[in-house]
Amino acid sequence: MRSLRIAIIFALLASLSFSFSRIGRAVVQPEPLDTNEYGCPSLVAAYHGAEPLPTTPSRDDQGGGIKEEIPDKYAARYQEWKKEFLSTDAGRNQWAYYQSNRHFALTIQLSRENAEGATTGNYRWNEAGQLVSATITLGSRLDQGYPNPIYFPVMNSLLLPEAQNRIAGVTLAATKLAHEFGHVNRTAKVDPKQYQLQSQLMPQYNRIFLSNGRDANDPRLLELTRQLGGTPVEIWEDREYWGEANAMVYLGDRFTENGLRCSLFSRMRQSIDLYAKSYEGRFLAIVQSTPSHRFCGWQ
Ligand SMILES: [Zn+2]
Repeated sequence: MRSLRIAIIFALLASLSFSFSRIGRAVVQPEPLDTNEYGCPSLVAAYHGAEPLPTTPSRDDQGGGIKEEIPDKYAARYQEWKKEFLSTDAGRNQWAYYQSNRHFALTIQLSRENAEGATTGNYRWNEAGQLVSATITLGSRLDQGYPNPIYFPVMNSLLLPEAQNRIAGVTLAATKLAHEFGHVNRTAKVDPKQYQLQSQLMPQYNRIFLSNGRDANDPRLLELTRQLGGTPVEIWEDREYWGEANAMVYLGDRFTENGLRCSLFSRMRQSIDLYAKSYEGRFLAIVQSTPSHRFCGWQ
């Protein structure tokens, strides 16, 4: 455990220096120490863990809807998290959409692996290119642990001292569930061929990068970047900030009054300014679409 913690701290420090040093630089270079063999930043992997293993399509997938595979001993806590998610319009609407969708099967499972994290994967598309199934895997202690602010500026906002006193773990868990729904929502919209190409080419990019003296200007890497539509780090940033955008929608619905809402939104803004400046528009659009018009400093 100790060595894992040291590895995570090391990755965090490496990324912090990367994030600060890249501010103001025209060209963002991939951080050498910051990716795993799939080109996935270690700080993303530290939260998401491994993607669920692919399974063969079951008959249940054919019918669509939401299939909850929760071991009995975790059922009570899972129901609390789900209730919290469904206490908002965002949660209710998204749940109802997938529940009633006959053409898409969403499996939600719970695992002791990666206990404070969650992940979404096992994506399948039909021949027409429509996403037909996905699996969200929630950790058994989803109501604990705050992801880092670099890739998870929204979930991390709950780490605020005033939030700590007033927000229960159940809200943290529901925010993490919203982040995973954000991944599903987004993946249903992307070009499946491009997504699959990225999954296939990112490990290749990483292998070359690690063997060429970590030279991102290597013509082979420039060609892969062109095919991928960005470097692996940029692709992961984009994916994570879509998850975070949906977590923001959830939190915006969950906290409608000024006060704590503004504290959370200010903290999100601070982290987004520092680490996700080029994605700010995506978050700003969510704040501006808030029916209450409580922008909390975002305009
Ligand atoms: Zn994510």
